[in-house]
Amino acid sequence: MLILAALAGLLGFGVGRSIVALSDAHRHGRPDRWITPMCGDCGSTLTLLATRCRSGGHPQRGWNTVIILANTALTAAMVAVVPSLWLLPAYAVFTAAMVLLTVTDLDTKLIPNRMLGPATALGGFLLLVGWLFDSSAGSPLRALGGAAGYFSAMYLLAIIARGGLGFGDVKLAALIGMFTGFLSWEAVLIAGVGSFLIGGGTSLVLLVFRIRGRKDAIPFGPFMTLAAMIAVLWWEQITAWYTG
Ligand SMILES: [Zn+2]
Repeated sequence: MLILAALAGLLGFGVGRSIVALSDAHRHGRPDRWITPMCGDCGSTLTLLATRCRSGGHPQRGWNTVIILANTALTAAMVAVVPSLWLLPAYAVFTAAMVLLTVTDLDTKLIPNRMLGPATALGGFLLLVGWLFDSSAGSPLRALGGAAGYFSAMYLLAIIARGGLGFGDVKLAALIGMFTGFLSWEAVLIAGVGSFLIGGGTSLVLLVFRIRGRKDAIPFGPFMTLAAMIAVLWWEQITAWYTG
C-alpha cells in the first residue's frame, strides 16, 4: 500500500509538472505544451519543482511548486480511497483534471473545452475499464446518474443566475458528478452542496474584508473542484458524521 502510494505520488509529480506546462501555456495564450514546463523568457526547461529555469535562472511563479506538490499528494491519496486499485488510473486522471482546471479558472476565468472534453472522455473510459476488471467496485450507472444530476442542477442555476455561472461550470459538473456518482450518491451531494458552502463562505470573507467588491466576478469552478476532491477523499467520514 505504501509502495503503491509512493509510486502514485511519483506519477502525480510528473503529471503535476505537465499541469504547470499546460496551464502556463494556456495563461500566456501559447500553443498547448505537455510533459516539461518551459521558461516563457528564454525557452529552456524548468527545474524539478519549476521554481526557475535551468539555463537563464529566470524565476517562475511560486504557484508552480504548489501545483506540483498538490497533484503529487492528491494522486498518492487516491490509493487509499479508490474502491479498487483498478480504478487508480481513472481517479489519477480525475485528480489531475481537477488541479489543472482549478488553475486555468483562477488564471483566466475559463474552463477550456479542449481540456475538459478529453478529461471527461478519458476519465469515463478508464472508469469503465477499471469497473470491468472489478465490477464490485462502484457503479457506472450511478456515475451516469451523478453526471446527469449535477449537470442538470447547475444548468438550471446557470439559467436562473444569468451569467453568474458560466457554461464551463455546468460542463465541469458532469465530470465531477460522474466521478463522485461512481462512488456513491452521498459523494455527489457533498460535492454539489459543498461547492456552494465553500463558495458562499469564501465570497462572504472576500466581501467583508473588502478584498473583492460586490461587482467583481469570482470564478466558481475552483469551489466545485475543491468540494469534489473533499467528496472523493472523505465522503464516507462526512456521511457518517452527518447521519450521526
Ligand atoms: Zn529562462
